[in-house]
Amino acid sequence: MTSITIDHGADAARMPAAATRTLSAEKPSLVGLSREELAVALIGAGVPERQARMRVSQLWHWLYVRGVSDFSQMFNISKDLRALLERHFTIARPEIVEEQISGDGTRKWLFRFPPRGAGRPVEIETVYIPEEGRGTLCLSSQVGCTLTCSFCHTGTQKLVRNLTAEEILAQLLVARDRLGDFPERDTPDGAIVPSEGRKITNIVMMGMGEPLYNFDEVKRALLIASDGDGLSLSKRRITLSTSGVVPEIVKAGEEIGVMLAISLHATNDDLRDLLVPINKKYPLKDLIAACRAYPGLSNARRITFEYVMLRDVNDSIDDAKALVKLLKGIPAKINLIPFNPWPGTNYQCSEWETIEKFADYINNAGYASPIRTPRGRDILAACGQLKSDSERMRRVDRLALEAMMIAGHGEE
Ligand code: SAH
Ligand code: SF4
Repeated sequence: MTSITIDHGADAARMPAAATRTLSAEKPSLVGLSREELAVALIGAGVPERQARMRVSQLWHWLYVRGVSDFSQMFNISKDLRALLERHFTIARPEIVEEQISGDGTRKWLFRFPPRGAGRPVEIETVYIPEEGRGTLCLSSQVGCTLTCSFCHTGTQKLVRNLTAEEILAQLLVARDRLGDFPERDTPDGAIVPSEGRKITNIVMMGMGEPLYNFDEVKRALLIASDGDGLSLSKRRITLSTSGVVPEIVKAGEEIGVMLAISLHATNDDLRDLLVPINKKYPLKDLIAACRAYPGLSNARRITFEYVMLRDVNDSIDDAKALVKLLKGIPAKINLIPFNPWPGTNYQCSEWETIEKFADYINNAGYASPIRTPRGRDILAACGQLKSDSERMRRVDRLALEAMMIAGHGEE
């Protein structure tokens, strides 16, 4: 079990705004465009049409294999062309407002993105969780969330806006920069991202926001992240988590093809209406039907059902029985998430013993039921703790939260 190191900020690695050039709203970014869109953009800027294809593959390589963020580093592209690209476009990274490293190695970045249209700059969080043999990056898809799941901290923040594909990918690119996960910049042309020894092996769309309410941009970003000539993360190592936007579930399987996670949390509509209010619109019956219809579903490609353990709310053995009954016949994994508290919440995490009994029951019923170890709680990086921007936590709230964690989770 992870020990909770309360971090008062002194030993967290913090960094000032990135010293390198950062993204501005002035020029369009080439990050996040499909190959076809890149070609159109280049031709529009004056690149001869007959060169477009070749230029697109060169750019793709620099952007997604080498991870460069400055045209001047693209040494197989002529100076004149680099100058032309520089005049019209940007490939700069977003500003890193803060980077924190937890006692357990979890990292959290706070990014600031420039305004889109008439808006203002926004801030979002991204979390990296290293584990034995793998490393998972948890990406945000929206600034805030329109859904108001009662146990989720992000749900207390209003939706400010959807992130663009560029901004979703930028989280991955910066994380790879910071973790040293791109190949050496001076490797010979044609270098590929090694599949062994990568720091980031998995991506989960489980940060801030509901990814299926930002379908198009999430799709664009994930198709680029899984592109075999670029970032080349296998779709089996990318998981999209949804609170249950039923009409988009099968579509996500068909058009994106990544692994699916469902934030279930309750086994009857009355309780789920309270915990995950989108259930009022798309009740359990419809949600389960959509899961059964998920393309590619099999024992090798199971759906993950996330179940947050809330003391005296959904954690009894009767609940475990109902869960097994509800999921009968669906190739599934059940991920038990100890509730992560935040200031102002009325929920408490279930007792550790209760969680273990619950896990044992569903395990005996034939389901893998890992208990998700809370990671990075000391830097508020654990599930449901992400929140930023206008409502960033005041110090006094943070201290209250720390006190709650000590009181409520002493057993860990
Ligand atoms: N909006 C999407 C993805 C982001 S939330 C969704 O709801 O699925 C990622 C996961 O964290 C979800 O399963 C969510 O229910 C869970 N979560 C939210 N708040 C939590 C909290 N305080 N403690 C533990 N898990 C939480
Ligand atoms: Fe939004 Fe997911 Fe939080 Fe619900 S659990 S409020 S859908 S981020």
